[in-house]
Amino acid sequence: MSSPTTIAAVKGFRDVLPDEAGRWRDLEDAAARLFARYGCEEIRLPIVERTELFARSLGDTTDVVEKEMYSFLDRDETSLTLRPEATASVVRAYVESGLVQRDPAARLWYRGPMFRRERPQRGRYRQFYQIGAEVFGRDDPLADAELLVMLMRYLEHVGARDTRLELNSVGDARCRPAYRDRLREFGQRELAALCPDCHRRLERNPLRILDCKVEGCRAVVARAPVVLDSLCEPCRVHFDEVRALLDQERVPYVVNARLVRGLDYYCRTAFEVVGGGLGAQNAVGGGGRYDGLVAALGGPDVAGVGFALGLERLAMVAPGEPAAPAVAAVVLPLEPRAVRPALAFATRLRDQGMTVALEPAGRSLKALLRAADRRGARLAFILGEDELRAGRATVRDLARHADRPQALALDTPAPALAEQVQALLGSAP
Ligand code: AMP
Repeated sequence: MSSPTTIAAVKGFRDVLPDEAGRWRDLEDAAARLFARYGCEEIRLPIVERTELFARSLGDTTDVVEKEMYSFLDRDETSLTLRPEATASVVRAYVESGLVQRDPAARLWYRGPMFRRERPQRGRYRQFYQIGAEVFGRDDPLADAELLVMLMRYLEHVGARDTRLELNSVGDARCRPAYRDRLREFGQRELAALCPDCHRRLERNPLRILDCKVEGCRAVVARAPVVLDSLCEPCRVHFDEVRALLDQERVPYVVNARLVRGLDYYCRTAFEVVGGGLGAQNAVGGGGRYDGLVAALGGPDVAGVGFALGLERLAMVAPGEPAAPAVAAVVLPLEPRAVRPALAFATRLRDQGMTVALEPAGRSLKALLRAADRRGARLAFILGEDELRAGRATVRDLARHADRPQALALDTPAPALAEQVQALLGSAP
């Protein structure tokens, strides 16, 4: 009989193995702690939403909605979608739960997987993870600045290297239409050099040509008029105040007048955190202001501003220190009769909060000690025939390759046992 073939993960979907998952947990824990200082509370959201939520919030001319969503018909023919981002879901939950009335100035943060059917490449996956935050009910520049201070403090706190905050204003419903027209006219003049996608974008949503990735289009776009030159007075004042507040807090940023966010609902403040050494996919995160989105999703006219960070890319710019081996000690039963006392011994230590590995019986002491070494343990407790008879485990110091003179009584009560082991660990090199 031929052996069954292995089954690979789906293209663009990947496993996060323990080494990486440990770092992710630290990054998430740090976000939870730091964001709380700014009044952000965590929200956990469903992964599946009605397709129309994204069609309506992202705008149906965006790449995400046009070609990257994982959508399917449920058995009752409702079109559902694996969320490509979470802002729309946060807004839906904020309105649907009544938070919008109870706590209109809610600040919410989230973490979790997002799904986009993009072309997979280094740093770009079809399932990826984000940490994000949204601040509602505030249209003042202070809200933008506070959010950006929080974001940059967080990046600093987790040790992100070589990142840069890029800032822009994309105007609002008052001044953007005129800019859109200028951009369309410019694009019409340069039509020959633009890709077919951009031809379509010029018709439907000219701003989208600004983040086209095609080389030829990028060269054209480099000469295009910038939205920053078309801001109306209130947008200009808002932008200047955000900058002044960031300057006051000494948050470094560069103004990038060509920065636009891919999604339609952004207005005024738009920003991106760019990481050095990330290659083509260099955005660690981004966000901006989206006044009007809550109303577009059926809620009252409440402002919002937020960001999302990609966890894969964040972990690349903030890899942290390699984790120390977690296992402090191993318990080694040398023979079957030692299995029960070995489990009881290990359980008592684990109950006291220690990380203990327990090896199976029946292997030679040499093999067991090798296994203990591989786990990075510092102490081994050996339970062989002699030890069982004496009621004491031999303590082997794995760094010095020598037995300690003190043996541990197998019936030591839990707290005292943990104390003795801690003392042994404390005196190990
Ligand atoms: P966006 O919602 O497109 O602004 O994405 C925010 C952040 O999520 C980006 O800056 C990336 O760090 C991350 N991100 C977006 N799409 C992907 C992807 N396909 N694979 C990995 N990370 C992504």
